[in-house]
Amino acid sequence: MFPMISAICWRRKSGGEPPHSKGGLLMIESVTIPTEVQFMRKILLAVIVVLAICALALPSLSQVEIKWKIHDRNRPLPPVVDPGTASTPDATGRAPSDAVVLFDGKDLSKWAHKDGSAAKWKVANGYAEVVATTGNIFSRQAFGDCQLHVEFAEPLPAKGTDQERGNSGVYLMGLYEIQVLDSYDNKTYADGQAAAVYGQYPPLVNASRPPGQWQSYDIVFHGPRFDASGKLLRPARVTVFHNGILVQDNVTPTGPTEHGERPPYKPTPEKLSMALQDHGDPVRYRNIWIRELKPAEGEK
Ligand code: MG
Repeated sequence: MFPMISAICWRRKSGGEPPHSKGGLLMIESVTIPTEVQFMRKILLAVIVVLAICALALPSLSQVEIKWKIHDRNRPLPPVVDPGTASTPDATGRAPSDAVVLFDGKDLSKWAHKDGSAAKWKVANGYAEVVATTGNIFSRQAFGDCQLHVEFAEPLPAKGTDQERGNSGVYLMGLYEIQVLDSYDNKTYADGQAAAVYGQYPPLVNASRPPGQWQSYDIVFHGPRFDASGKLLRPARVTVFHNGILVQDNVTPTGPTEHGERPPYKPTPEKLSMALQDHGDPVRYRNIWIRELKPAEGEK
């Protein structure tokens, strides 16, 4: 190897024959490789072997394993749930049997204002309506990871423009707002329209119905986790269907939602009250239910 390299170098430099060639044929002599070079060759070989082993191991590390055998009849069966019924434009549906019903059209006893006082929003004809200046309402029960169903109707006739038209909001853990807005033929900034994770993620599409019609949000939310020192272990994640259309696909909030800023995560308990926003517009709500989620198999 070394005589060959020296021969090539000789040709490039001088254009003539290298000292160990004869008639264009390279004459290879036995060469003693220095100890240092032999050592380096061993190290290089060892590195190549280690890399090869890692390359072979990687595919198996990237696969997902389930602790149960396939079709294992000893595997526990999921609990049976009555799925309830869907709402129609004229009638409120029925919640799934394992859901916590937060508003069934009769009263707001599951809700309170920030100071703990009874919710002052109007309740009539099976819906609750925001009463301006009374303030946000908070669920008396705290929730974290959840599936949440909310129905709302924007004021008819429509009044105002941009962010001042039918503005309200669903706050997961009271911190992460899924925007409620009349976004039917009403332009505003993308990350502030209906079904946006406010100030962070616009919806994938605008699936808004006209004002006065009942609409729905179906939300899957996984709250953030922090260690004992307050370090963020995992951010929140949220998926939203607006009127049955996927509009937020497992997005990762950057932290709590705010107007004009994106504050970072701060340590919170795993469960907090969820909230509905009083933004001064008489938005109506009905059929609000929530299902608490346990970690999926293999998930922390
Ligand atoms: Mg809002």
